[in-house]
Amino acid sequence: MLEISNLNVEVEGKPILRGLDLSVGAGEVHAIMGPNGSGKSTLAHVLAGRDHYVVTGGTIRYRERDLLALAPEERAKEGLFLAFQYPVEIPGVSNVYLLKAALNAQRRHRGEPELDAMEFLQIVKEKVALMQMDESLLYRAVNEGFSGGEKKRNEILQLAVLEPKLAILDEADSGLDIDALQTVANGVNRMRSPERAIVIVTHYQRLLDYVVPDRVHVLSQGRIVKSGTRELALELESKGYGWVTEGASQ
Ligand code: ADP
Ligand code: MG
Ligand code: MG
Repeated sequence: MLEISNLNVEVEGKPILRGLDLSVGAGEVHAIMGPNGSGKSTLAHVLAGRDHYVVTGGTIRYRERDLLALAPEERAKEGLFLAFQYPVEIPGVSNVYLLKAALNAQRRHRGEPELDAMEFLQIVKEKVALMQMDESLLYRAVNEGFSGGEKKRNEILQLAVLEPKLAILDEADSGLDIDALQTVANGVNRMRSPERAIVIVTHYQRLLDYVVPDRVHVLSQGRIVKSGTRELALELESKGYGWVTEGASQ
C-alpha cells in the first residue's frame, strides 16, 4: 500500500525528514509516535503534497505508483486521505457540500455515476448515525468554530464517507475527552478492512488502548528509530522517549 524509502524532506532549506523508511501493507493499522518536532506532521504534509515541503531524496510508492509524481488532488482521487493536526476551516462552505463534492470527484475519477442530492444525503446520514454524530454537524461550515473534539469527529465522518484506501490521521486524538476518544476509536475500528491501511499519528498511547495497531513506530529527528508491536507503545508510555531516541541522533 505504502512504501517509503530513505525519504529526505526540507522545509525552507532546513532538513526535517532524514532518511525515513516506512512500509505499510493493506489491512494494517500502524501508529507513529515520537517527540514533538520529530517530523510526524511533516510526513503527513509530504504525503498530501503540500507546498513548501521539498523532497530532496528518497521514494514514496503508493499502490504500486510513484506518489510524488501525482498532483495532490490526484492522490485524493486515488484513495489517499489525510486528516491534519490542525484542520482548515472553510467559512461559507458546509460540511455536506464539501463531502458531496469530494465523493463525486472520486466517483467521476473511477468512472462511476455521480450521486444526486437525495442519494448522497441517504449515504451521509447513514454514516452520521454509524459514527454516533449529530446531523446538525452536516450543515455547519467546514470546521468553523468547531471544538477540537468536533473537528476530530468530523475527520472520522469524512473518512467514513470517502472510504479511502490509505488514511493518515495526524494527532487523531489530541484535545479529545474520553467520549470523543471512544467515538473516534470506534470510527477508526469500523474502517479497518483487509483492503485499507490506516496510519495513526499520536503522542500518547491512550488511543491505542482502543485502536490496537499492528505496528508501532517511533519517529525521532526525521527518521524511524524503532518499530515494534503494541507493547512498544506501552513501554514508551512508562519510560518516555529518551531510551529510544538517545544514540539514534547522528
Ligand atoms: P511533529 O508533528 O512531530 O511535532 P513537525 O513535523 O510539525 O513535528 O515539525 C518538525 C520540525 O519541522 C520542527 O522543527 C518544526 O519547527 C519544523 N517545521 C515544520 N513545518 C515547518 C514550516 N512550515 N516552516 C519551518 N519549519 C517547519
Ligand atoms: Mg507536534
Ligand atoms: Mg505534529
